[in-house]
Amino acid sequence: MITDPRQLLSWVRRAGPEALELACAEHPDPSRGDTAADVVRVPGCLADLEAHVPLELLVLGAGSVVLRLDGCSRPEEARRRHGPVAALTTALGGSRVVVLAGERTGSRRRPVLDAHHMPVARRALLPILAPDRPPLPPGHATAQERLSAAATALIAGSATVLDDLDGVGLALTAAGCTASGVCVRSCPEGALSLWTEGDATDLRFDPGRCSGCGLCIERCDRGALSANGHVPWSAVVHSVPVILARTTTTRCRRCRAEFHPEVVGETLCPVCAFRSAHPFGSVLPSGRASRPGPA
Ligand code: SF4
Repeated sequence: MITDPRQLLSWVRRAGPEALELACAEHPDPSRGDTAADVVRVPGCLADLEAHVPLELLVLGAGSVVLRLDGCSRPEEARRRHGPVAALTTALGGSRVVVLAGERTGSRRRPVLDAHHMPVARRALLPILAPDRPPLPPGHATAQERLSAAATALIAGSATVLDDLDGVGLALTAAGCTASGVCVRSCPEGALSLWTEGDATDLRFDPGRCSGCGLCIERCDRGALSANGHVPWSAVVHSVPVILARTTTTRCRRCRAEFHPEVVGETLCPVCAFRSAHPFGSVLPSGRASRPGPA
């Protein structure tokens, strides 16, 4: 799996290839095709390549990026992952596009580069010829932050309205939320958060940070979260948090955590209520149940 192909990004920034083709590690032979394109084999599968990478390649200077799905063993997963990005670049209408493609036409053989061992770009040898391009994206940023930054850079200055074009994040809704915080702790992107003011707790969602992984929906033990399609690209770029649910909460008198009381007057959170009802825990120490009591 290739998550941060720094060498490839750096090479593209220096060389500014007109056209770039990326192929999976297991592609039988990506060498045949248009000689104007530079071909790069990425380790692992294109279905695992983070969605921000093709966009970053465009932002850093590639004219177009073709993802070769003809040699991919998981083409449908690759389409799901890269489809929204390809649709975004097409909607922007310029020549800098991400394309999901099959076999290439052309019978000439081309050298196939390795994403982890990129050659030194000729321009790098003559710094005076180095093009003025954006800096490499920060390696510490999350995948979603990088996707959002690359999309913003690409969209900047475009008059295209992107309100109807699906991005990658889920359009979440929450009904019956009890502010348990399970979804907040599950979200790898920090897209969900709980905010308490007085006796109300809000579940806030930042659609621009959502990668659409679905973990929050899967792990919510109340089944409160669901998705109604995807948020549009405009939400990814403008990234304004919304309130998904407002819940009345109170502070547990024992552990002081905020919780949603199921009945009026409840003062212990579910965990403390359980401990109070089962002071020795849910499982007796081994051998305790069978040990005879005093005669
Ligand atoms: S789907 Fe849920 S868990 Fe996944 S990134 Fe979006 S908000 Fe976070």
